[in-house]
Amino acid sequence: MTTLVVDGLSVHYGGVCAAQDIGFTVAPGQSVGIIGANGAGKTSTLKALMGLVPRTVRSIRFGEHDLTRVPGRKMVRYGIGYVPEGRHVFPGLPVEKNLLLGAYSKPWKGATLDTLDEVYTLFPVLGEMRHRLAGALSGGQQQMLAIGRALMSAPRLMLLDEPSMGLSPKLVENIVAVLQKLNRDGLGILLVEQNAKLTFEVTTECLVMENGIVAMNGTSEQLREDPRVRQIYLGL
Ligand code: ATP
Repeated sequence: MTTLVVDGLSVHYGGVCAAQDIGFTVAPGQSVGIIGANGAGKTSTLKALMGLVPRTVRSIRFGEHDLTRVPGRKMVRYGIGYVPEGRHVFPGLPVEKNLLLGAYSKPWKGATLDTLDEVYTLFPVLGEMRHRLAGALSGGQQQMLAIGRALMSAPRLMLLDEPSMGLSPKLVENIVAVLQKLNRDGLGILLVEQNAKLTFEVTTECLVMENGIVAMNGTSEQLREDPRVRQIYLGL
């Protein structure tokens, strides 16, 4: 089974420590959240996991694979999909081309076309706009495209960085429903978010990051009832 186990992950930008000795586990099909304020170190943690920023780490394991020294661009081959903060779609390419680029690691075209159909079923608007340039899509549609593109590699675990950023409450609900469905269907999720309410709806376990360290962790149910979390992260 493919459990992700991250141990001792740290990120330093020059003299700034953005993340210090972070460790967590995502079991197969589990949904884990990392919440925290702006600048707490969430994005750095995810980027470090993907090898996109200089990091030190004791170990990263995914099932039987030791990924400690595997470069980020190869993570997709092991079944790890990544939806970066800010979407990063290819604006000058059509929607469908963007999606097909997400499947570059898959050898068999038939499976790719099936996955494309699944993405269009999840996000019908992407099917309707398949020939439009990605740059012409709204922010919410681009977020759907970024998630769809990551799904095209048929991942077992998907890492998402702030998928709710800049979206209307209605679109956030749409993304929540899709993530819940994908998780019910067996996809593991690691969700980084400033939006704690959304994160508690999608995940069963959560870490709270503050100033580069894990300040709290527990089940999402416990954390959503914690007085400090309610005050600082839920504004209640
Ligand atoms: P956000 O929600 O704004 O993305 P975050 O919790 O993801 O916040 P990070 O973006 O990981 O936080 O930032 C953690 C710390 O590292 C902050 O102090 C930030 O200013 C700093 N930082 C992030 N990226 C860099 C960089 N490329 N160079 C220098 N410092 C950086």
